[in-house]
Amino acid sequence: MTICRFAPSPTGFLHVGNLRTALLNYLVARKSGGEFILRIDDTDRERSREEYVDAIKQDLGWLGLQWDRLERQSDRLDRYEEAKEQLRSAGRLYECFESRSELDLKRKKQRRAGLPPVYDRSALRLSESEMSVMRDARPSYWRFLLDRERTSWNDGILGQLSIDAASVSDPVLIRGDGQFLYSLASVCDDIDFGVTNVVRGADHVTNTATQIQIFSTLGGQVPAFAHHSLLTGSQGEALAKRAGSLSVRDLRDAGIEPMALLSQLARLGTSRAIEIRESLDDLASEFDLSDFGTAPARFDEKESTALTARHLATMPSESVLEDLLSIGVPQEMATEFWQTIRENITSRADIRYWWNVCMHGAEPLVDPEDAEFVEEALALLPPGPWDGDAWASWTRQVKEKTGRRGRSLFLPLRKALTGSPRGPEMAKLMPLMQRTGS
Ligand code: GLU
Repeated sequence: MTICRFAPSPTGFLHVGNLRTALLNYLVARKSGGEFILRIDDTDRERSREEYVDAIKQDLGWLGLQWDRLERQSDRLDRYEEAKEQLRSAGRLYECFESRSELDLKRKKQRRAGLPPVYDRSALRLSESEMSVMRDARPSYWRFLLDRERTSWNDGILGQLSIDAASVSDPVLIRGDGQFLYSLASVCDDIDFGVTNVVRGADHVTNTATQIQIFSTLGGQVPAFAHHSLLTGSQGEALAKRAGSLSVRDLRDAGIEPMALLSQLARLGTSRAIEIRESLDDLASEFDLSDFGTAPARFDEKESTALTARHLATMPSESVLEDLLSIGVPQEMATEFWQTIRENITSRADIRYWWNVCMHGAEPLVDPEDAEFVEEALALLPPGPWDGDAWASWTRQVKEKTGRRGRSLFLPLRKALTGSPRGPEMAKLMPLMQRTGS
């Protein structure tokens, strides 16, 4: 069975970049009827916050990315302890003592000498007595001893990859304060949960090379890896450096619909056109990781807004019934009202505006040059109730009386009745306005 996981660190709100990773894993799992795990990577006690764990769950819930299993790394510290012992007895974990500034200094010297800034393994040369002196003086941390050979894998997006482990520092797996770092914890989890496929950002490629060695040392099955290109803002700027964070909740608050965002993210970075889909199942059935390219993909919020409007325009009233009822639209009017307005709104928040227009009429919007015309026209407005012919017959009369036609006839009348230059077809809207007693 295909088993995927999304593994956010709860150190902030989900942004579109994280969401894309979540979605790709979700779609790989769903496409083959597999399992999707939400794994909270919370071994960093200082930076992890419970409120972010809740927010991640809420955001995924809002999007319908339902997980089959929830795991937290903070519940698994005993397991990581075991793995530490296993790596130690395999001779692949060694104790180090250099401080951050000592390491910085070493790297600077290496660079000056034209050497790659790879950790020189000097801790391996310490004698037992030197180490015990060090231990008394400062906290020790643990590095994984890499095999200095090439690690290769067939990446689901990047194709055949090969990384020379000699160009990489032995990764620190356990910090001086005892905190297990992501590389070790993640490999233990992927082994124990039977993860078969990992999709993550291209910034993890080097991690993957080292993790493959950890998998082998711990005797685990190496999952199939795929690294997607990173998402940037619409100007190509890194998401982290962008002024607005593009967090999932900001997009939700801006009125973006879940399926609009998901449809966009499922195709962004592929050569396929972005088209709105009705459900995650639809996205899953046509999903193929090999469609993704290697170039960074740009996320443009305007596209989410446009997709949202397109999505709303074809949505059946059942999908918004709760919104309609909650603002007082009577059940028996829900479908007609919704079908009248749905092509003319950009988010659900606009529904209320049009319902107010129907209920109470609108503050007329009248340009000074149209004031006289509008007054004349309103005097011709037939008394209610208005039927489907009211708009046509009224504007015909106004046209005859004033000689205005086309846009200069219709637009000021629309603005006067609805308070807006744009909106639903007036012939359909007028009967709704009448029926609610405006
Ligand atoms: N917590 C890691 C991150 O957010 C997970 C990476 C992975 O998918 O392995 O970068």
